[in-house]
Amino acid sequence: MLIRLTYASRVSPDVSPTALRDILATSQRNNERDGITGALVFTGSVFLQCLEGDRAVVNRTYHRIVPDERHSDPQILAFEEVTRRDFSDWSMGYLAYTQQNRHRFLRYSPNATFDPYQCTGAALGDMLRDLVESARALSKSVD
Ligand code: FAD
Repeated sequence: MLIRLTYASRVSPDVSPTALRDILATSQRNNERDGITGALVFTGSVFLQCLEGDRAVVNRTYHRIVPDERHSDPQILAFEEVTRRDFSDWSMGYLAYTQQNRHRFLRYSPNATFDPYQCTGAALGDMLRDLVESARALSKSVD
């Protein structure tokens, strides 16, 4: 059964850009092996991650991620059964919050500062699809 799980967590102090690259590399390696697709957003203080795949496999992956000391306060914000994947070509796509794409985050945010803990699961789903679409359009324009 195909499901999508979205959670947020807070980055731990002293997590370096190298540690972020390690997280992404490990995620891509493991997720490709496990048939998981998704996206990881990093705002500078908060992670927002979407994992899609088989229900048991996504559950197992999420429970492996939760105790990782490179983040804290993980909260599941949405969990849904889905008929298709949104990130079928990404074992774990990385989306950074930048001055250039800030407006795409704020479009779905109730506050002036984007905080996924304050957003509905539906708004986060729309926001991730919006971000992915613009990342795909950008990569096509530089191909
Ligand atoms: P290993 O081969 O044991 O480790 C891979 C690398 O990560 C090594 O460089 C190791 O030093 C380092 N590392 C592992 N655990 C820690 C730790 N607790 N603290 C510091 N460094 C560590 N894993 C996935 O498989 N899929 C995901 O989508 C995913 N998303 C993540 C999102 C976030 C925000 C975070 C913080 C972690 C995520 N992880 C993800 C990593 C996960 O928490 C585990 O570290 C990883 O799954 C362990 O896999 P492994 O046994 O193959 O890695």
